[in-house]
This record gives sequence, structure tokens and C-alpha cells, in this order.
Amino acid sequence: MNRQEFEIAQIIEQFGRDYVNKHLPNSRTLRTLNALKICRTSAMGGHKGKCDHCGRVHISYNSCRNRHCPKCQASKQAFWIEDISERIIDTRYFHIVFTVPEELNAICILDSRKFYNTLFSSVRQSLQTFGYTKFANSDHVIKYLGGYTHRVAISNERIQQIDENSVSFYYKDYRDNARQKLTTLPGIEFLRRFCMHILPKGFVKIRYYGILSNRFAKQTSMYRKQKPHRGKETVQQRIERLTGFDVYRCPYCKKGYMREVEVLPRIRSPGNFLRPKHITIKV
Ligand SMILES: [Zn+2]
Ligand SMILES: [Zn+2]
Repeated sequence: MNRQEFEIAQIIEQFGRDYVNKHLPNSRTLRTLNALKICRTSAMGGHKGKCDHCGRVHISYNSCRNRHCPKCQASKQAFWIEDISERIIDTRYFHIVFTVPEELNAICILDSRKFYNTLFSSVRQSLQTFGYTKFANSDHVIKYLGGYTHRVAISNERIQQIDENSVSFYYKDYRDNARQKLTTLPGIEFLRRFCMHILPKGFVKIRYYGILSNRFAKQTSMYRKQKPHRGKETVQQRIERLTGFDVYRCPYCKKGYMREVEVLPRIRSPGNFLRPKHITIKV
């Protein structure tokens, strides 16, 4: 029997209101939680399609495309890997991993934007000063990084159970040889920790310096890989080429194609959105 599948959206639905009222998150966190909560539901609107082979009708709801949504990263990751593979200078690279001491976590919570920016500039300065490192070819590095660049705080596959009060999920214990362990947290605490991973607005988490930066694109063009000519592609065609998933293929008979018969509008019900209760002050 297959295990029941759980999603971040269910946790937000179940514990989001209590989390918001207890912790009063900022507007960016609220917007992110709301986007993940309604991703691929009727609240986002969508399309009704009819198969041209078996005649079955299927409804597909729109995605939120939020960078923290576990359901919306697969195609972004595939696009990134292809884009960078085709613009990279064709040589061998040093692959270097920096880690942050646990003691600095408190500063990150206070001002994550300043913390991450400082981290990037410290890394840059360190690289200009030292050399320790793992040597790898560009394809290897890109595929490895691709596993991290679009990773979100927790994937839905790691969530094992949601009950009335708590959430159980797998994590890797790096103090114990990265062993996979199951842990359980109260739902509100789970959301508090999840929200600590929400990046500042507009934050650029993949940055190119030196000869990889756009400033040197012209001077280094002759050393870059030649982009294969493919002609014009729609987003759906590109997804199919890179992942093998045909978004138009009928999910029932797998033979026909879904033809759009109706566009479904977004449902903007106030009940779909989290917001803190109004605070009233009695005088
Ligand atoms: Zn989404
Ligand atoms: Zn069909």
C-alpha cells in the first residue's frame, strides 16, 4: 500500500492561522505562506481540458511559482542547469564549499539580507586570498549545484505524518554521519522554522563573479560553450525536452492530448488567505 502523501500546503492550511496569530510574521512571509497554501488549487484558477482520444475531462490548476514552493522548483532547476551549461566557460573548475558557524545563526535571524550579503563578500575575499579545493569539470559542478540551487527548506517527500497537533518529517543528522532520522515538531513550531528559510525580497542567491560575470561576457565569449541551435520553444516544449514530461498528454489514457475547453478564473475568497487577527487596544 502506498504511503499517504503530505504537503507543506496542508501544514499551512492546518496550523497557519495559529502560527500567524502567535508570531505575527512580516508581509513577505505572509505572502509566501499564502502562495504556497493555494498553489495548484482552485484559488489560483486554471484550465479545463478534454482529451482528443478518450474524451475524459481534466482540470489543471495554476502554479504559484514562488521560489520557496516545493511544487514549483523542478522545471526551474532543469532550466537553470541548461542555461548555465550553455554559457559556462569550457574548462575545469574548483568546487569549494563554505559553511557558517552555528554561533552566527542568531545574526542571520536578526537581519538575513545583511548576513547573506556579508557571507557572499567574505567568500569572495577568501577565494582571492586562499586556495584548498576540489577540482571538477564544469558538467559535474553544474549537476551537483543544480541539486542545491533550487532546493527549498523541506521537500514534500520528507513529510511523513501530519496529525492534529504535530508534523513528523525526516532530516539528516550531520552530527551522526548524516544519518536520516525521523523527528516530530508541533505544527506551529514547524512553520516558524520553515519561515526562517524565506529569503529577503529580491535576494539573488546565485551570483557570478570575475570572468563569469556579465561584465566580462564579451571578452570571454570565445571561450564559452556554443549554444546549440534549437529554434523557438514554448515553456511546455522545453519542459518536455528537459524532463520528459509532456504537460499536454492525457493523464488517463496517455495517448491523446488535452485540448483546452474552458479557462477557470481565480477564486479570491478572503478565507483562502492568512492574516493576523486585528489587534484592538482598549483605552
Ligand atoms: Zn507553487
Ligand atoms: Zn485520454
